[in-house]
Amino acid sequence: MISRILARASQGEAISPADAYALLTADYPVQALQQAADHLRRTLVGDPVSYVVNRNINFTNICEQHCGFCAFRRDAGQPGSYWLTPEQIIAKVQAAVQQGATEICMQGGLNPQARRHGTTLGYYQHLVALIKTTAPQVHLHAFSPQEIQFISRQDGVSIAYVLRALQDAGLDSMPGTAAEILVDEVRRVICPEKIDTETWLGIVREAHRMGIPTTSTMLCGHIETPAQQVAHLERLRALQQETGGFTEFILLPFVGAQAPAPLRRRVGRDQPDLQATLKLTAVARLFLGRWVQHHQPSWVKLGLDGAVQALQWGCDDIGGTLMEEHITTMAGAKGGTAKTVAELQAAITRIGRPYWQRTTLYQPCQQPANLIG
Ligand code: SF4
Repeated sequence: MISRILARASQGEAISPADAYALLTADYPVQALQQAADHLRRTLVGDPVSYVVNRNINFTNICEQHCGFCAFRRDAGQPGSYWLTPEQIIAKVQAAVQQGATEICMQGGLNPQARRHGTTLGYYQHLVALIKTTAPQVHLHAFSPQEIQFISRQDGVSIAYVLRALQDAGLDSMPGTAAEILVDEVRRVICPEKIDTETWLGIVREAHRMGIPTTSTMLCGHIETPAQQVAHLERLRALQQETGGFTEFILLPFVGAQAPAPLRRRVGRDQPDLQATLKLTAVARLFLGRWVQHHQPSWVKLGLDGAVQALQWGCDDIGGTLMEEHITTMAGAKGGTAKTVAELQAAITRIGRPYWQRTTLYQPCQQPANLIG
């Protein structure tokens, strides 16, 4: 049975949730799964591995919520809390541009004091304007569906209104974060204050309809079951079949080292289980099939060596240079907070694959000069 599923999936045929569940739970040589995912990746997107030169900016860690996995958030006034000034943000954008960044990735905590700027939406529009006036050519990839709902709730305006206003201000695309596991039973335990599954899907659907692409993500390796992992993938695939707005899938394994004690104790592991992450990487590639062309591992969470291994389990993108990272690093991840272009290129070259620099939306940056094999 497994070999038949793998044969179909590796040819790009749609496999069912029951098939994906079997791939995750049955007892069979895992090498067959790796080969099938690797084959499908090669068929769909070839051997070149992409990377993006980007800078991550987390503009505040002050957050009204208390997600069970989050070591990043602080209350206002608590030691370690911060809220970047406009000058600090501008300096980070300028430094990023000097280092060749084509993308600014920006997310932050849900800070109720953002209202001080007239409206919460006004504050976020101001953030977008800061980036776009400093570097008009840079692609702004910002604000999770949870942040969009926060603005909408704070100001009493619709999701569509918020999305349109931010798009008009210069927002180019959004991270598909805050998805965690799109199963409410899990969300009620790990992020009970966050938007529920239907709300997340509704905001992303609305963004896609407006022409704002997003990534898709999954926070795995905590309390979720294989059936819930499959349910999550099923929801992403169904939405992608409807809108086509996902640019990629990013698997984000839970890092527990500095995470709040209750979830850390329940999971009983400080760092991701690499083998389990690789297996899920391959199943995600096969299940999302021809609908999601690009798959990215997280070098912040897995380390660069782990991420390079994931390139052999279905991934075709190594992610971004980031230049700084706080959310996962504060959770105790060991992958580091920045990678140079040379480090990413060398890592890709180690497994004999060519590399290329992409834009956020997977267009070539300087083809063919930097495509080498
Ligand atoms: S994950 Fe995001 S929403 Fe949840 S507590 Fe942390 S910063 Fe706040």
